[in-house]
Amino acid sequence: MASKNIYLSQLTGDATYTQIVFNKVWGKVEADRAAYPEKKVFMMAFGDTSQPLPPTVVQGLVNAATRLGDRETYTGYEDVTGNPDLRHAICTNYYQKKLGIDFDPAELFVTDGAQSVSVNIQELFAPDNVVAIPNPAYPSFVEGTLLASRKLVDLPCHESDNFVPKLPQENVDIIYLCFPNNPTGSVATREQLQYFVDYAIARQAVIIFDAAYSAFITTPNIPKSIYEIEGAKKCAIEIGSFSKMANFTGLRVGWCVIPHSLMIQNTVPGELNDLWRIRHCVKFWGTANISQQGAIAALSETGQLECQEVVNYYLKNAGVLRQGLEKSGFQCFGGIDSPFVWLKATSGLSSWQFFEKMLQSTGIVGVPGCVFGNCGETYLRLAALGHREEIEGAVENADKYFK
Ligand code: PLP
Repeated sequence: MASKNIYLSQLTGDATYTQIVFNKVWGKVEADRAAYPEKKVFMMAFGDTSQPLPPTVVQGLVNAATRLGDRETYTGYEDVTGNPDLRHAICTNYYQKKLGIDFDPAELFVTDGAQSVSVNIQELFAPDNVVAIPNPAYPSFVEGTLLASRKLVDLPCHESDNFVPKLPQENVDIIYLCFPNNPTGSVATREQLQYFVDYAIARQAVIIFDAAYSAFITTPNIPKSIYEIEGAKKCAIEIGSFSKMANFTGLRVGWCVIPHSLMIQNTVPGELNDLWRIRHCVKFWGTANISQQGAIAALSETGQLECQEVVNYYLKNAGVLRQGLEKSGFQCFGGIDSPFVWLKATSGLSSWQFFEKMLQSTGIVGVPGCVFGNCGETYLRLAALGHREEIEGAVENADKYFK
């Protein structure tokens, strides 16, 4: 007799981020729209991209589709760890030329975005491993840990520390870090990341570093990759994504790096990389070949320049949003090296009360900070990945909050 997965069923109801956003946030917006059909709503809840793909990427996709339509150039299944040209381009054009970090392409696995690998990567570790997760955090880290039924240790993040967590107080085996951070928009300094790397090496723990927003870093000396930190290749797995750096949220391409030198107890160099290759062969047969060709085009010299223009557009959005809200009297964080602005609730309001007041008075829709963990209580996350006119409209309306 089959029985349901109890860990999965504990995520039903309003237990997951997606359900809360689509049911509760969206439900409240719909109710507001029904009550005030004339009112303009500024949707900044979703971290989805809005701008068209850069021309070089489009051309890469068109060329790939054309090749697939020709018997002479048609290709089917590819290397399940990713198109070798793409792995090579990520190693050379991203890690080597941009960041001065050397990898063998075999240390890299192409994925269908950062989302799935950020959760699935836990399969590399023993079931009793303890997972440390910043609070607030990107929800999948927590949801994936619950699904795997692992013990979870909270790492509270506070305004006073610029939302960078302190080291765990108890022994943990896996540590999630995400910088630039979703939801707070904060970044971590070299010194702060060095503490975590030193901690991980000393305890044979592994850092899962989500660098999905690395392209948004503009502040000098802020690391874009965990591997800019000394020792990180011994203790860290990095997850990257084309979603926000090249507008690939629909095309679905990301990667993860499992360095040969990453080691934990009872392993030899290269073993974790080998294990992940096996897991890849069993459970994942690669990303769409067309999408991978788009990613190769995105990493060409022209492709990179065009992609950075799109990132700059979102960064300008975030700047306009943050400055406009500050001018109206709000206290804001993030929005400088990140497309997310983390807005502090006005005095005495909870995240949800702030969300409601913001929606009712200004039409601005964000995600209540408490949805990302209880330390996000009294904040609201706004995503500046939409169209500039929307952002400007929102800023013009922001004053209404205080009237
Ligand atoms: N990690 C973080 C921190 C994110 O914010 C997101 C998407 O919003 C993801 C991962 C998933 O990105 P992808 O589209 O590459 O799956």
